[in-house]
Amino acid sequence: MTELCCSKCGTEYSMEEPLWRCLREECGGLLDIRFEPAFPLGKIAGRKPCLWRYREAIPIKDDAHIISFDEGFTPLINVSVAGKQILIKQEQLFSTGSYKDRGASVLISQVKALGIKRVVEDSSGNAGSAVAAYCANAGIECDIFVPEATSQGKLAQISLYGAHLHKIPGSRGDTAAAVMIAAEKYYYASHSWNPFFFQGTKTFAFEVCEQLGWRAPDTVVLPVGSGTLLLGTWMGFNELKTAQIIEKIPTLIGVQATNCAPLYRAFKENLQEVPAILGEKTLAEGIAIASPIRGKQILEAVRNSGGEFIAVTETEIKEALLEMCGKGYYIEPTSASAIAGIKKYLRQCADNKEELIVSAFTGHGLKTQGPF
Ligand SMILES: *Cc1c(COP(=O)(O)O)cnc(C)c1O
Ligand SMILES: [Zn+2]
Repeated sequence: MTELCCSKCGTEYSMEEPLWRCLREECGGLLDIRFEPAFPLGKIAGRKPCLWRYREAIPIKDDAHIISFDEGFTPLINVSVAGKQILIKQEQLFSTGSYKDRGASVLISQVKALGIKRVVEDSSGNAGSAVAAYCANAGIECDIFVPEATSQGKLAQISLYGAHLHKIPGSRGDTAAAVMIAAEKYYYASHSWNPFFFQGTKTFAFEVCEQLGWRAPDTVVLPVGSGTLLLGTWMGFNELKTAQIIEKIPTLIGVQATNCAPLYRAFKENLQEVPAILGEKTLAEGIAIASPIRGKQILEAVRNSGGEFIAVTETEIKEALLEMCGKGYYIEPTSASAIAGIKKYLRQCADNKEELIVSAFTGHGLKTQGPF
């Protein structure tokens, strides 16, 4: 059975209802999807190298609604970080330049299935670009809200895809407040609220395991703001474990920028919920989320995996960026934060030569100015 389920009050809804949060007025909780995925490994092996190869694990009913650029199955390659070989997925190679295409492909397919003609989304840039691209492909109108200070490359991309671009003065939080008003009128294709987005990002875990010969790595280090990649990855590994395809769930390490690190702080203080903070400006604009909607779920996932959060400074992000670009990987500063996090992680933990660590280059460098 496939249905939407409120994470707060437990109310269930049909997937055919155009919802992005619980309808009950006194609740308004986050929705999750109840769905039994299947993994026919033999069939999967023979399919195109894209994320829709895991078709039976993605809750879109009718193939006719799928909106796809044959995205995914990004290369998983060895990169030397502080003298250790780390396997890094090249998520900057997606059609819009970030891993957000994973979520956008599934979410906009569901929007298509619901027959919705216009959506709204808010973003620091990459999620907005991805939603705009998939909406363009699907013939769906969209309004994208971004902070005024968003990188020029991302703004150009969103406009050129034909989206209505709304530049909001102030912080990322001000942008989130502005979109909420628009979301009263149009469907909110939010990457943080909408559970279908995570049904796309979970394919990150499927691909990693398949690329390792249906085996899980020991540790996965990811940059985290709203947690769309981290939570999706956590869900994906859990589904594979439930299906008895992998034996263990990797340890998840979430990397935040010291200048905006609400999850890191809540974790250190052993809290269950994540208090909003006053974030400062950071080079890692893609993870500058002062008040993560799914903060509680992110904390739980990282704790349950036996992992932790690491915070990295602006200097460390800049250094990691220069180091990766110096090897020919053109990534955005947000992505470099994960590399800075890995360096810190390797310094603090006992040297374990066997430990298989996976990470991601989450976004392409061409959209941002870099730190100069
Ligand atoms: C969105 C994004 C992230 C992290 O995503 P969250 O969902 O906010 O945790 C990391 N890197 C890049 C380049 C991004 O665009
Ligand atoms: Zn509810």
